[in-house]
Amino acid sequence: AKVPPIHNEPFLDYAVGSPERINLRKALEKVSSECPHIPLVINGKEVKTGQIGKQQRPDKHQQTICEFEYADHENVEAAIRGALKAKKHWETMPIDERLSIFLKAADLLSTQYRAEACAAVMLGQGKTVWQAEIDAAVETIDFWRFGCKFAEEIYNIQPPENVKGVWNRAEHRPLEGFVAAITPFNFVAIAANLPSSPAIMGNVAVWKPTESAMLGAWTMFNILREAGLPDGVIQFVPAKASDFAKQVTHSEHLGGLHFTGSTAVFEELQKKIAQNMSHYRSYPRVVGETGGKNFHFVHESADIENVVHNTIRGAFEYQGQKCSATSRMYVPNNLWPSIRERLVAEAKTIKVGSPVDFTSFMTAVIHERSFDKIQSYIQKAKESSSCKILFGGRCDKSVGYFIEPTIIETTDPDFVTMKEEIFGPVVTVYAYDPKHYVETLELADSSSKYGLTASIFAKDRDAISKAEEVLRNSAGNFYINDKCTGSIVGQQPFGGSRKSGTNDKSGSASNLMRWVSVRSIKESF
Ligand code: GLU
Repeated sequence: AKVPPIHNEPFLDYAVGSPERINLRKALEKVSSECPHIPLVINGKEVKTGQIGKQQRPDKHQQTICEFEYADHENVEAAIRGALKAKKHWETMPIDERLSIFLKAADLLSTQYRAEACAAVMLGQGKTVWQAEIDAAVETIDFWRFGCKFAEEIYNIQPPENVKGVWNRAEHRPLEGFVAAITPFNFVAIAANLPSSPAIMGNVAVWKPTESAMLGAWTMFNILREAGLPDGVIQFVPAKASDFAKQVTHSEHLGGLHFTGSTAVFEELQKKIAQNMSHYRSYPRVVGETGGKNFHFVHESADIENVVHNTIRGAFEYQGQKCSATSRMYVPNNLWPSIRERLVAEAKTIKVGSPVDFTSFMTAVIHERSFDKIQSYIQKAKESSSCKILFGGRCDKSVGYFIEPTIIETTDPDFVTMKEEIFGPVVTVYAYDPKHYVETLELADSSSKYGLTASIFAKDRDAISKAEEVLRNSAGNFYINDKCTGSIVGQQPFGGSRKSGTNDKSGSASNLMRWVSVRSIKESF
């Protein structure tokens, strides 16, 4: 192999007095005082349109963290044209040279830009220091480095058989056309990876980062440029979502869509693609990761401390704004009194505060729209006779979009907060009769339209096997005695099926495979 051995990037712990903590403090001050004005970048040129947007700080919405430009119709056209032109050079560039750009980007982020990237997502996306480190540093670096390793593995997949006088080979070509990358606010690692993974395989991407994570996206884009990404290979095109969607799906050159976001938006995009099907020169590859209604299922034999600790983390880290967050829970009624008591006791110790206070466990949710939606779900629970708020429930948007960690108990397993995605710090618990373990597993499986993540907590091996069997299609990422969040690149490839996405497993070679179209070559001697 040519790519050097790849391992997960080690975590920094930002201990008091550590150099990384001092650097991060400086970076936070810098990012907080700068408020950059971010242009579009098309063919390497910075473009301004005069249509200006702002990214607000979630925990302090009076403060603007950056300004950016919205692309107009002509900008998006120019980005597509330019990307197609850049592709000619990019796809024929020696593979080593292409990969070296991403390996270098990972090194730059690991060393020079780590603090700045973490600060951008702490202030811009409301992450605590730990949540910033696992996203803006570790996972982004891992996506880039493992992407190179997976690319090399893919290029090495060759037909196993050659008969006498014949040499068979596989050429892993990039897709024809361009890939549209539409990225979410909750992980800058995902935002950086969606245009990068097609680019690693020789594709070009037109990237629309979302408004509420612009500074993080811009930081990653600049690292790629500094690492030597040629002009036009990834076009940086902030735009209004619906205009952008309409335009990219209308282009005859759409080769692929790499999306993470809501189920509703993903379905809209696919409908648009269906409507335009006859224009396309090739059938676009559609890869999307969407929502979830992820759950922890507790068996009578579970270790209670482990359940409680992992539920607090799964439900409340990053304010429950991971696609994988724990948002419902099934607990046997004989364990429920002690689990309830411990859950509430632990929730009481959670510090909800500013991201610059390194002792905060939670900060604010991303924006007002999200705040209002979460609050309305809490309100429904408050008004329902089947629900009790065991902890939290208070929401305050006067300074930032703060919502307390909220634990709801319900006697109705079909209550709306047991079924619909909330994307906030709210977990609903249903206590079941342990005599009906299997039926309750079936209920958990059938009561939501999603299939992203789930966990079983049990010591009894038969109970674990039963859960694995009944919950076979409930989750693309299934955990045994662990929380249902926190997948790691190269270790637990991530993604779900049903209405959670196409399950093309980011963090594995399967995802990169989607960005190649193989030519089989037979040569006879
Ligand atoms: N991979 C992340 C996790 O396991 C979640 C990704 C997402 O929110 O889309 O926590």
